[in-house]
Amino acid sequence: MLPGRSDAFLTAAPDHGGELYSPALPEPEPATVARGGPRGIVPRVAMLAPDLLRTQAFVGGRWVDAESGETFAVLNPATGDEIARVPRLGASETRTAVASAAEALPAWRTRPAKERARVLARLASLMADRSDDLATLLVLEQGKPLAEARTEISYALSFCEWFAEEAKRVDGTIIPSPSADRRILVTREPIGVTAGITPWNFPSAMVTRKSAPALAVGCTMVLKPAEQTPLSALAVAALAEEAGLPPGVLSIVTGAAEDAPLIGAELTSDPLVRKLSFTGSTAVGKLLMRQCADQVKKVSLELGGNAPFIVFDDADLDIAVGAALVCKFRNSGQTCVSANRLLVQSGIYDAFVARFAAEVSALRVADGFADDVQVGPLIDEPAVGKVEEHVADALERGAEMVTGGTRIEGQFYRPSVLTGVGPEMRMSREETFGPVAAIARFDTEEEAIAIANATPYGLAAYYMTGDLARAWRVGAALEYGIVGVNTGLISTEVAPFGGVKESGIGREGSSYGVDDWVELKYWAVGGLAPAG
Ligand code: NAP
Repeated sequence: MLPGRSDAFLTAAPDHGGELYSPALPEPEPATVARGGPRGIVPRVAMLAPDLLRTQAFVGGRWVDAESGETFAVLNPATGDEIARVPRLGASETRTAVASAAEALPAWRTRPAKERARVLARLASLMADRSDDLATLLVLEQGKPLAEARTEISYALSFCEWFAEEAKRVDGTIIPSPSADRRILVTREPIGVTAGITPWNFPSAMVTRKSAPALAVGCTMVLKPAEQTPLSALAVAALAEEAGLPPGVLSIVTGAAEDAPLIGAELTSDPLVRKLSFTGSTAVGKLLMRQCADQVKKVSLELGGNAPFIVFDDADLDIAVGAALVCKFRNSGQTCVSANRLLVQSGIYDAFVARFAAEVSALRVADGFADDVQVGPLIDEPAVGKVEEHVADALERGAEMVTGGTRIEGQFYRPSVLTGVGPEMRMSREETFGPVAAIARFDTEEEAIAIANATPYGLAAYYMTGDLARAWRVGAALEYGIVGVNTGLISTEVAPFGGVKESGIGREGSSYGVDDWVELKYWAVGGLAPAG
């Protein structure tokens, strides 16, 4: 067993595949990609229950086609095969969805919290019952290994469970008044109609991480999933409908990449929408924030990261290697909290690189349905192209390839390790978003902190140390929303997820996650008799 697997978070945090990183792998350096049987896409799609494979958008409680009748293809990243076609909605359908969210709002926000909680709890339970189908759908459209897909589904439904509980605790405060004939109250009220825009890398969890807290506090939502992965979002909506969510409370507006700016413009310009919650790239987040400025809409932004992963000389090598593996190669390196820059101190450098590279070269790359698969395909051709460009740039500037460094076939890239990666290289400045680990050497703690903080991003940072005093010192010095100490796994519904600097605004998950969906109302109640 790899040491990282003994990390308590592997079992505690449901978003990570505790079974992903197995030892002694049969095919180090595979030349071709193993396919999970039954071979081909058609049998897998045919095995899916039709009530979860939805090929219409969900607007105002109705399953609809685009007004234009146009559709776009959802492709399997492992094979390139078409899984389904879904509607290309635009501004007009988005306006309809917003209008129905506004119509549904008064009844939903005034419904007793306990009843809203029951609907969310039912949704969580239906997702648990159907987790095999949901995970299969997720593998088909996103490509991650089935074990990871299953844990994403448990992570996704955990937000419904958590916020079903939180719904009942959105209470207020009475503040001692400065005058005897007044009372001062503060209540927390739902913001109103909200919009959500989600990315493709966690197609199910990002939907519930936004919609569950919004719905729990009494908001309604129009959500646009990514072009590559609309099916998981539609499946959640189908189960929400079955759970008894009233029409209009949650709409799913699907569209191709060309439609996203139109849908985004509508969501950010319609005065009925009072808040936008976006997860995706920093560039698009900034654009949407600018669009929201005109009407001073509230925004929550979960944007890109550039996570440092620091290994100090005093680290436990087993823990450091295990944590780096899971942190870097989960979801083929396509997570916003992936270790993007591995910084390793001189004294442990050689030992770490040797152990880590051996483990990386043994990772099994395969179709997400294959046995023992650990690394699946990348989401699309541009994603592979970006990895290739980053690797070429690093090699040109003097980095060394220790293992990997090539595409295998299609959208599969060999898990890779590069050393001698410098701050001027693209890999150090941008998210590579692929299965390539970039390692740099450092000498002192101060140097490591300076390198780690030398980025406009501030989502997650990790460091490995056996020194308790250093653990507190370094954590305090890192300018990040999340720090992982002796672990590469940090996501769970009970903790606040989010970044600082250009990685975003706001937090998702935990009891803090309620704050982004409520407004404070201060009540000054005058003309009263003095208390007592
Ligand atoms: P992206 O290109 O920004 O897309 C994200 C979403 O925004 C998709 O639904 C996309 O729609 C939509 N979109 C794109 N342009 C838009 C526009 N002009 N108006 C409205 N919507 C628009 O990001 P991505 O490549 O899919 O996702 C990867 C990024 O997400 C990475 O940077 C990653 O770090 C970040 N991420 C952050 C977190 C976090 O919690 N901080 C979590 C996951 C991912 P289409 O797909 O239809 O183009």
